[in-house]
Amino acid sequence: MQPDQPDIIAAIATPPGKGGVGIVRISGKNLAGIANAILGGLPKPRYAHFARFSDMRGEIIDEGLALYFPAPNSYTGEDVLELQGHGGPAIMNLLLNECLNCGARMARPGEFTLRAYLNQKLDLVQAESVADIIDASTSQAARCAARSLQGRFSETIDKLVQSLINLRMLIEATLDFPEEEIEDLHNEAVNKQLAELKTQLNDILVSAHQGYLLQEGIKAVLVGEPNVGKSSLLNQLAEDEVAIVTEIPGTTRDSIQKTITLSGVPVHIIDTAGLRETSDIVEQKGIERTQAAIRNADILIRLTDVSRDETHVKSKAMQVFSDDKLHINVFNKIDLIGLPARVESHENTVNVYLSAKTGSGIDLLREQILHAAGWQTGQAGEGLFMARQRHLEALKRTQVHLDKASEHGEQESEWVLLAEELRIAQDALSSITGRFTADDLLGEIFSRFCIGK
Ligand code: GDP
Ligand code: ZN
Repeated sequence: MQPDQPDIIAAIATPPGKGGVGIVRISGKNLAGIANAILGGLPKPRYAHFARFSDMRGEIIDEGLALYFPAPNSYTGEDVLELQGHGGPAIMNLLLNECLNCGARMARPGEFTLRAYLNQKLDLVQAESVADIIDASTSQAARCAARSLQGRFSETIDKLVQSLINLRMLIEATLDFPEEEIEDLHNEAVNKQLAELKTQLNDILVSAHQGYLLQEGIKAVLVGEPNVGKSSLLNQLAEDEVAIVTEIPGTTRDSIQKTITLSGVPVHIIDTAGLRETSDIVEQKGIERTQAAIRNADILIRLTDVSRDETHVKSKAMQVFSDDKLHINVFNKIDLIGLPARVESHENTVNVYLSAKTGSGIDLLREQILHAAGWQTGQAGEGLFMARQRHLEALKRTQVHLDKASEHGEQESEWVLLAEELRIAQDALSSITGRFTADDLLGEIFSRFCIGK
């Protein structure tokens, strides 16, 4: 990624397919050439102009609105031209091609937003939230992303960075000018400020984790022997017929995934192939995929059939992956032996008794899935940030170094080490909004955008 790309980029900004309006967006330095060719001149800035769009030979391609935003008052911070024509794929491609004929090149995914970031129109968290708004799969996730775009997450992070800087200044001052009388005073102030920082960071981590769940969703995997009722349970949870329910063991060879929404949180549920050892090649593939799904899961939902004798040993795949994963044990088919639906919570295990057939106890399972993933009900409204894995990792790294800093806080002789830990913590925290962000990370972040954004 080069910060100073003088070239002009263009893309169709509206989704592919037909619609009332389609938009071609152009950004770069000096768009007079393109504007002359297509519109006969640059439109008056920030006015909506009815215009005819013509090609090189002067033939009219389409008519619509032209909007011109000169730098720096535009989305990208460069000159931006928007051509709003009719939303058909053929007409949009003609218009885009005309831009390319006039010297623009196709924009890469996320390149408009990358330029906005490089021109300091947005910080990194805000740029990411643009993609998150577009990708949001629930209205709650969209609202959260909008809050991040407004800069609420960035402000919170910046405030914490500022507190860290203040604390570092206090320490560096003490290290540079050691005065016996004020030593005790400083010691107390440093430890107090450090403790406050840690509390604030912890609060941010909690709400960032909620935001992360809202955006990414919870990955849950249904595991269990053939015929225990995995597909039936998935159907009940999804309340429609996604998986084929069958009485032949091992029919669900491939994983079937369905995304449902619980309290506004997307939950991706995967129904795995029957877990058992086999020499069947096709089935072997299914088992490998099952193991991969289990590795990536946030939660395992382990099913057993209460109507059967359950003393049989767990299959190999279950033993390898199940025990260190967060899991919920579901005892299915309570209707067959007349048990009531209920939840049993022990220290590290949760058992849910239900019937995938009648639906009795399904709501209990829904609650337990949210609970196990760390979703705090009632947290869904104000104050949630749209956070990504990258943000959570940075927050956790900050936490580790603040903890290390605390270990050096008691002895003033160790304050050099304390100061160093705080410096590392500050770098980690600042990487969230992008002040210390490597180029390869930028490439990774923006490549996941759609084209035209
Ligand atoms: P899977 O192989 O684990 O996916 O199991 P299925 O969902 O295909 O179910 C196997 C059989 O058990 C089917 O005949 C289902 O109708 C039946 N079944 C599933 N859940 C229940 C339940 O809660 N009660 C009863 N009575 N039958 C069930
Ligand atoms: Zn099944």
